[in-house]
Amino acid sequence: MQAMSVQQPWAFAIARGGKSVGNQSTPTAYRGPLLIHASMRVDLKACDSPLIRSAGWDPRDPLATIGAVIAVADLDHVCSAAVRDASCDCGPWAARGSHHWHLTGVRALPRPIVAIGRTDLWQPAPGLVNEVNTMFATAAALGNVT
Ligand SMILES: [Zn+2]
Repeated sequence: MQAMSVQQPWAFAIARGGKSVGNQSTPTAYRGPLLIHASMRVDLKACDSPLIRSAGWDPRDPLATIGAVIAVADLDHVCSAAVRDASCDCGPWAARGSHHWHLTGVRALPRPIVAIGRTDLWQPAPGLVNEVNTMFATAAALGNVT
């Protein structure tokens, strides 16, 4: 398990809005489960963008918080074409000049879990991973997650 810190409202768009591409400054060889962590910084000018509005951005949603893990996803593959200024088919969420980290199987957490993140990819503490797994298991047992 690894974790990725993303500024709001982009982290929310991953958790709730179908954003399936993370735009990162670096590539990674890592593939597998990834905690989506909303970093402490907010991309304020993005909050009014059409893309973010189309993702259903709602500042009152608990997952619109900062400094917390809000979802789990799988890092499926990374496209680096845009870094070489080549075109690719990564869709509306993919930004020019970034590595496109493709995320599948996104599962929003029932509640955010406060955690300190880092930039880009980082190794979550075992306690944090346990907390995420326990929360999903509890929600499933209560019938809140399908
Ligand atoms: Zn791409």
